[in-house]
Amino acid sequence: MRRPGRRSRANSIASRCQQDAATQARLRFEPWYHHMERQKGAKVWRDGHEMIMLSSNDYLGLTDHPKVVTAAQEAIREWGTSTTGARMANGSRSFHRDLEAKLATFLGTEACQILSAGYLACQTAIATFAQKGDLILVDRNVHSSLWAGINQTQARVERFAHNNPRDLEEALRVEEAKTPKLLVIEGVYSMEGHVSPLRELLDTCAEHNCFVVLDDAHGFGVLGERGQGTVSHCGCEGEVDLIVGSLSKSLASTGGYVAGDRALIEYLRTHSKQTIFSAALSPSQTAAASAALDVLIDEPEHRARLWENTRYYLDGLKQLGIDTWGSETPAVPLVVGDRERTYRIWKQLLKEGVFTVMAIAPAVPPGKDLLRTAISARLTRQELDRVLEAIGKAFKKSR
Ligand code: PMP
Repeated sequence: MRRPGRRSRANSIASRCQQDAATQARLRFEPWYHHMERQKGAKVWRDGHEMIMLSSNDYLGLTDHPKVVTAAQEAIREWGTSTTGARMANGSRSFHRDLEAKLATFLGTEACQILSAGYLACQTAIATFAQKGDLILVDRNVHSSLWAGINQTQARVERFAHNNPRDLEEALRVEEAKTPKLLVIEGVYSMEGHVSPLRELLDTCAEHNCFVVLDDAHGFGVLGERGQGTVSHCGCEGEVDLIVGSLSKSLASTGGYVAGDRALIEYLRTHSKQTIFSAALSPSQTAAASAALDVLIDEPEHRARLWENTRYYLDGLKQLGIDTWGSETPAVPLVVGDRERTYRIWKQLLKEGVFTVMAIAPAVPPGKDLLRTAISARLTRQELDRVLEAIGKAFKKSR
């Protein structure tokens, strides 16, 4: 008789996972799930060593801003740690409604719905709206969360070349006018740092009556006159049906949002599985994002510093002759192009006290294996110089 707690691991799913772990160990390829003992601003500590965190999405450096930290602490004192339930059943709290109203005003939309992750916001913005018989047109390079939404629908899917309005036009031209169409794009592509050619894409969509979902996780707080994102940067206010994004980047929290016309957001509230069956954003996460939004609006110096740092870093990389895939934003890939060399550079940077993230094909197109780096307003000029020196050394050594 089998003893409790000693289940056999011989079933095929468990053994498949064991084999994968064995392969990882054999390759000594362990670049994920590091254990950081501490974090403070743009620094982390790993095995007792202080490192510059060069892959966080804390673009504005607000994760330990006193106003953000205090708001989160006060929310816990007043509301406790969680609402422990979904909003449709257990009700919204005033902090949810307040953040939604603030986000909608900031983004220039009628309404907004927040969810407990940016991933869920992206997924639901597609899965709730596209149906069997519709056509989804998607930029090849969009984030996994958007593919998760696409894969949840029964709509037909047509991919077009990355940031290529002409390819989109060609795909649309052969379609019947009566087919409902939905475009899926990002404002700033997270891996490449490319800004979407939104004006051209929207002009094409308008001709073909296409519903537009824009994931601006990396544009929010970064682009636009006051940080409203890619729509403002490209002068396309009021032309995107749904703007989705994350609270875990410029807003220094966790969670996501979907913003658009009231009728669309009301439809989402009553039809989105990711909303109806998932617990609400916690008081402290909501309060942190809300305070970070106030800081973004009231203290433009953080965004100014982010862009100063970004320009300095991109110039430095250019002088080192490093391929940054044409990035024009604080999300900056260091393209290496070969898996083994990417690993060697990544490891050398760790030794030098610089933490980056590897992205290896098929997560990136073949030949584009890279280290993803991201710039924060919190980095000092001295730290950026240290980073550039380490990158130069690591690339040279890996040849
Ligand atoms: N969209 C993009 C483009 C992202 O890069 C990410 C996360 N890195 C998400 C959506 C998901 O956001 P979150 O981490 O808040 O779930």
